[in-house]
Amino acid sequence: MESYDLIVIGGGSAGMKAARTARRYGVSVALIEERELGGECFWAGCVPTKALIRAAEAWNSLEDVSKYGVDVKIIGKSFQRAMEYKDAVVREVGGDPNSDGGLSKNGIRYIKGTASFQDPHTVTINSEDLHGHHFLLATGTAPFIPPIPGLHEAGYITNREALELNELPRRIAVLGGGPIGLEFGQAYNRFGAEVTIIEHSSDILAHEDRDIARLAHKFLSSEGMHFLTNASVERVTVENNEKVLTLTVNDAEYVLKCDEILVATGRTASVSRLGLEMAGVAMDGRYVDVNSFLQTSQPHIYAAGDISGGFLFTHVASYEGKIAADNIFGDNPIPSRPRVVPRCTYIDPEIASAGMTEVEALDSGIRTGVQTFPFKQSDRAIIYGDTRGLVKLIADLDEDRLIGAHIIGHMASSLIAEAALAIQHDLPPSAIADTMHAYPSFPEAIESAALSSYIEHIPAIEIDYKL
Ligand SMILES: Cc1cc2nc3c(=O)[nH]c(=O)nc-3n(C[C@H](O)[C@H](O)[C@H](O)COP(=O)(O)OP(=O)(O)OC[C@H]3O[C@@H](n4cnc5c(N)ncnc54)[C@H](O)[C@@H]3O)c2cc1C
Repeated sequence: MESYDLIVIGGGSAGMKAARTARRYGVSVALIEERELGGECFWAGCVPTKALIRAAEAWNSLEDVSKYGVDVKIIGKSFQRAMEYKDAVVREVGGDPNSDGGLSKNGIRYIKGTASFQDPHTVTINSEDLHGHHFLLATGTAPFIPPIPGLHEAGYITNREALELNELPRRIAVLGGGPIGLEFGQAYNRFGAEVTIIEHSSDILAHEDRDIARLAHKFLSSEGMHFLTNASVERVTVENNEKVLTLTVNDAEYVLKCDEILVATGRTASVSRLGLEMAGVAMDGRYVDVNSFLQTSQPHIYAAGDISGGFLFTHVASYEGKIAADNIFGDNPIPSRPRVVPRCTYIDPEIASAGMTEVEALDSGIRTGVQTFPFKQSDRAIIYGDTRGLVKLIADLDEDRLIGAHIIGHMASSLIAEAALAIQHDLPPSAIADTMHAYPSFPEAIESAALSSYIEHIPAIEIDYKL
């Protein structure tokens, strides 16, 4: 039986980073992947969804061009061609799905197949047994499917199938008002489907600052998306070829008919084929349990990326992959504690945040200062023709440092970088305000927020930071 210092299971962001990092210690490494290298992000997550969103944005922009002097007569729209654009982007970013991503050049053995533990030190792949001194579990997540009576029988799609549709369903019910549900929902709404977002909580985007979530709700509603909040689906049936959802919305019964159901109700660790019980690795709810050094309940088995929960982002998975490999082979193990995680939702306008929300800061007993700046006062936003949204900064007033930043607006995913740097380095808002920003530019909105006086909290929606 071949033996390796490290066997990495899963070739997504976490696994690839861990394998490459481990090789720098001169150890022997094998990486096992059952689908394509690159993982969910390249093939069914970040890249294809953002490409589809870009296509939907282009469709949507046609509505607006007459004010720039162009009258457009649309003679056709092709959902298939939008999907082809997405496929072309995935091919370009993901590369050849059959290549080994340079692993063998790096001295890493790449095995295509499904890994399953036989015992804590042995995995089987394609009927070959391999011995590992250490393992890294990096198998990511699968969609969490809520146990709704009739859902399975009626049929539903998840992010994977939603990216492979040949035809646009006329009416789509999206279960879940988180980033994935909203990104797909807005794109499909812009392609022409009638989209209803069904959210269990009292509002969408439960992890975002409340002002930002409320504005997002308002912007998306203004495009014609429907929302059912405080809603739970009691059962699904099929009648006359329609999917019929019976819901409780604000304690009243509600019936929604649709042609497709997209389930976006969260994720769960992808462990069903791993045989974790044979390895003696414990779970913590839906995810693999790890300590701060990313060790599972078996000290020689580590886990990194989405599989262990927390922030489910590619950049976090990659960070954890490196930490795990360094902790296995380095002399000084360090805890995995990314101080600042930029979190983006790619609806239009984009949402981006880093650090604490206002409520988190207040709940932690911090004397909290809030500074805001609406894009309707940004010269660049006015020139660009999109003044939706705002920048909201959160500061610790006693320590005079920035502890949170929340943006909804054009290019928010790029704008957040400056605030993330300031939070990471404990800088005061004045550090941003004292830095010269180019005129006219979107980052000036962050500078202007940092220059503004601290306010007592007034909900942004009441100040009418407008559509
Ligand atoms: C629709 C959607 C949109 C997203 N958009 C973004 C975004 O814009 N930005 C962002 O940062 N994040 C985004 N994410 C999240 C991002 O995709 C994940 O955080 C990231 O892919 C996690 O990387 P990972 O390495 O932990 O797992 P994965 O990327 O899931 O990789 C795990 C790999 O393990 C393989 N595997 C599973 N079981 C086995 C087994 N038993 N044997 C062998 N191989 C196995 C799988 O085939 C897979 O390739 C999105 C996710 C989704 C679903």
